[in-house]
Amino acid sequence: MDATTSSGRKDFVLAVEGLTVSFDGFKAVNDLSFYVDENEIRVIIGPNGAGKTTVLDLICGRTKATEGSIKFRDHELTRMKEHQIVRRGVGRKFQNPSIYEDLTVFENLEISFPRGRSVWGALAFQRDAQVKERVQEIAEMVFLQNRLNERAEYLSHGEKQWLEIGMLLIQDPDLLMLDEPVAGMSVAERKKTAELLHRIIQDRSVIVIEHDMKFVEDIAHRVTVMHQGKVLAEGSMEWVKNDPKVVEVYLGH
Ligand code: ADP
Ligand code: MG
Repeated sequence: MDATTSSGRKDFVLAVEGLTVSFDGFKAVNDLSFYVDENEIRVIIGPNGAGKTTVLDLICGRTKATEGSIKFRDHELTRMKEHQIVRRGVGRKFQNPSIYEDLTVFENLEISFPRGRSVWGALAFQRDAQVKERVQEIAEMVFLQNRLNERAEYLSHGEKQWLEIGMLLIQDPDLLMLDEPVAGMSVAERKKTAELLHRIIQDRSVIVIEHDMKFVEDIAHRVTVMHQGKVLAEGSMEWVKNDPKVVEVYLGH
């Protein structure tokens, strides 16, 4: 596979180039380009209204681009529908957890297990055992192994966020996108979430939108700072936080 883009970069998982979306003439995302590598945690920061959530909407196909390209491995996502993008291995968590409150943790994870993933022709009980094992594995990963039989409505806010991350992880995405995952979490929960992210990128890449700078410092390999639909700065946290433009529009507030 030769995944060279117009700018000649290789070995990325995701290449966003010249991405623009116009809502009645207002460009919420305006000629945006950035690249995400294998096993990278990329954090997108920036003031409210900068266009961060819209970028995730564009990548997952919920919003259609006006111009530009989104290449995920060798697939052009701008031409694909939302469910096709999910099937290609892109998972996305929204700001509010979308879990089934009246189901247990186990059931929430079980229904997220991709159908048709088990060996073709496997007997029902073999499939059940396979699903159960995977649910346990994921529950452990997201710190919910002792909560499997709890109804989701009784989980804390942080545990609900982890459950939803688990529901995405059980689908084994190659790219996971999280919109403000630690908002409303305690300091201890934030630390555990950082640990979780470091663990899961061994098999995938992650894009996180976040405002908590301590958390961003803990997780980010690189940071993309957005402002008015464009990239204002990009680099290590150390690099961007010393950029006067970034201090002026975002960090100084
Ligand atoms: P952020 O996540 O950085 O706070 P958003 O991506 O949510 O910013 O929004 C960027 C801008 O685009 C905002 O001014 C918002 O009002 C506008 N916007 C987002 N989605 C739509 C839409 N579907 N229709 C019109 N305007 C939108
Ligand atoms: Mg947002």
